[in-house]
Amino acid sequence: MKTPIPEYLVEVLDGTQDGGEVASYIPELARVNPDRLAAALCMSDGRLYTAGDADTRFTIQSISKPFVYALAVQELGLDEVLKRIGVEPSGETFNSASLDPHTQRPDNPMVNIGAIATHALVRPDATVAERVEHIRAGLSAFAGRELELDLNVCSSELETAFRNLSLAYLVRSVGGFEQDPRGIVEGYTHQCSLLVDARDLAVMAMTLANAGINPVAKERVVDEAVAQQVLSVMTTCGMYDATGDWMTQVGIPAKSGVGGGIIGALPGQVGAAVFSPRLDDVGNSVRGVQAFERFSKDMGMHLLKAP
Ligand code: GLN
Repeated sequence: MKTPIPEYLVEVLDGTQDGGEVASYIPELARVNPDRLAAALCMSDGRLYTAGDADTRFTIQSISKPFVYALAVQELGLDEVLKRIGVEPSGETFNSASLDPHTQRPDNPMVNIGAIATHALVRPDATVAERVEHIRAGLSAFAGRELELDLNVCSSELETAFRNLSLAYLVRSVGGFEQDPRGIVEGYTHQCSLLVDARDLAVMAMTLANAGINPVAKERVVDEAVAQQVLSVMTTCGMYDATGDWMTQVGIPAKSGVGGGIIGALPGQVGAAVFSPRLDDVGNSVRGVQAFERFSKDMGMHLLKAP
């Protein structure tokens, strides 16, 4: 690319068109500045490039899901996790109340029902606070920085978490976990309330793309096979019921969150993150999707592009 990367990132962000609405089902999220816009790229050698509001922190929300899945697979082993949570795209909305009719498992760990089941698998005998702290520390290792919780967003979401509670009770009813569903939703909601900026997310994405080694801290966070498993599930399920569109248009393992973040991880090459709070109907950042379409086209990032 001829343009220096920082200027290129500014150009990409400037080229995106606004649209959509901030998530309002979590009252505190409706209060964020909808015009915030940031992008960050982390290279395999740890070099970082940022543009826009790259220091603005926002809640990680569903982007926590692949990382907590990574912790679960690392700690329990893939076979144990697969007994409880599948790897098939659900084709349904992110908060859909569905289990695989044959196995009674959540379809995958990227939709809420599967992420709630995944949360319960991490340190199953710990208290809610201990599990949250373990997950906070684990995601901090991916980011290479001590992450903090936004307790306002967390309590705001918990006040109206009826849907997630019903999903947790559904999984509990078929023996997907043994703990009290209320504590699992409490812990899962804390997990979603971790504060990150675009730079953190780019490093976290690059850690997955770098076979589990944080490229900045140069420390292994999860095994190579675990990182590959997580990227595979992101490829088929990361963008909810828009994953087919995403894979054809952008072609990068990815995950979005209702806080407005999107990460993309191209194995061995780059971890990318965009933040813009206005979301489309599916729950993906409108400008984030456009920015990734540009990245993919300009940098030839589509996984299935012929060499
Ligand atoms: N905490 C949110 C929820 O459970 C996360 C959803 C999302 O980011 N798509 O509803």
